[in-house]
Amino acid sequence: MHEMSIALNIIKIAENELEKAKGERIEKIHLVVGRLSGVVIESLRFALDVSKKDGPLLDSEITIGEVPAKMICLSCGHEFEAEDFYITCPNCNEYNHKAISGRELLIKSITIS
Ligand SMILES: [Zn+2]
Repeated sequence: MHEMSIALNIIKIAENELEKAKGERIEKIHLVVGRLSGVVIESLRFALDVSKKDGPLLDSEITIGEVPAKMICLSCGHEFEAEDFYITCPNCNEYNHKAISGRELLIKSITIS
């Protein structure tokens, strides 16, 4: 599962941060997942639940925020939100756009105590 390797990666990063900060535990971790990142949030949550055992995230509060996909139309310059790539521009109806957000997958913040 794709999400499992992402979860393990997040845990690894959290471990490093904890070590760097010489903290005792991670209270909170906030993740941001773009709608175009290909990550299913429920799957990621499940993968984190499964793999956080014995790790620094065991008692942490994990929040995941979703970033909507935003496109810019390369024909008319119109910016619009989209569920996925397969839509045409609502302004000019052309299928000629690129994503300006929605691909991100990142750790927005880690709270260490
Ligand atoms: Zn357009």
